[in-house]
Amino acid sequence: MHKIQVEDKEFEIFLENDTINKRIRLMGIQMNVDYENKCPLFIGVLNGSFLFMADLIKEVNIPCEVAFMRVASYEGTSSSGQVKELIGLPANIKDRDIIVVEDIVDTGLTLTHILKMIKEKNPASVKVASLLLKPSALKYEIEDLAYVGFEIPNEFVVGYGLDYNGLGRNLIDIYRATEA
Ligand code: 5GP
Repeated sequence: MHKIQVEDKEFEIFLENDTINKRIRLMGIQMNVDYENKCPLFIGVLNGSFLFMADLIKEVNIPCEVAFMRVASYEGTSSSGQVKELIGLPANIKDRDIIVVEDIVDTGLTLTHILKMIKEKNPASVKVASLLLKPSALKYEIEDLAYVGFEIPNEFVVGYGLDYNGLGRNLIDIYRATEA
């Protein structure tokens, strides 16, 4: 089993880059169908979504726009329950078809706040694409979660944009902590 160390924590391989990319290709194909004749605005939630956004957008061949926003809601390996806006929403989202791009939905708190902020600006539609979802950690129901890459157990993961204390975002595969 391929194991790595990030700071004080040991991780083992969980999802290989090839598996991730194959799944993302299918998500992109689905979006091309769902948004045919539209021009969606993808809004990536920084920092974790940057690699997912980069690979996803390459599979999307309809006209589209890309923007990013940043909130902070997480410390260490468990949700802190706080959401702070660090980089705000892009301007002019009124009447746009929005696709929020997230790396992972854990409790759903971050996304609930983001969706509320977006809907206040009266977009035409809002859907969420999350690479990962931890169904057993969900505390807030997310109706708009239309595209999920992988449902994973309630374990801490790192790599492919996701960090542990700021590190590990550059790993091309996704790893899971061997111990909680
Ligand atoms: P939520 O608000 O859904 O509880 O948390 C969402 C955010 O927490 C994600 O955008 C991500 O930044 C962080 N997060 C949740 N679970 C994990 C995980 O297993 N690994 C990493 N690296 N971040 C996580």
